Amino acid sequence: MKEFGYSLSPSSRVDLDKIDKIKQERLFALEPGFRKCMACGSCSATCSAGNFTDVSLRRAIAYIQNGQDLAALSLLKHCMLCGKCLVICPRGINTRNLIMNVLKVYGEK
Ligand code: SF4
Ligand code: SF4
Repeated sequence: MKEFGYSLSPSSRVDLDKIDKIKQERLFALEPGFRKCMACGSCSATCSAGNFTDVSLRRAIAYIQNGQDLAALSLLKHCMLCGKCLVICPRGINTRNLIMNVLKVYGEK
């Protein structure tokens, strides 16, 4: 990582050079709508599972964009695939398809 004369605490440091570009491109191909997310949070606010688990699609998308794949997977593992977020998303993203493909692409060993 390039040094800029200051440092971040290790827990909040994100190294964009370590993003798995191949997996990200695969995800983009499987659900092109991923690029349209504007992080409004409507999906998380209305999430059925979010009321009693830590499911958050908005945060999971941000994690994937930052290359924090395991954190994203962890946030989606209790998703019930109910599709409520699909109905509410103002960008018309097929969120169910996105979630299923995140679990598929990043869940592979
Ligand atoms: S509702 Fe749609 S645009 Fe908003 S954060 Fe969720 S996926 Fe992104
Ligand atoms: S599909 Fe998953 S992330 Fe979307 S509202 Fe339902 S439980 Fe929440």
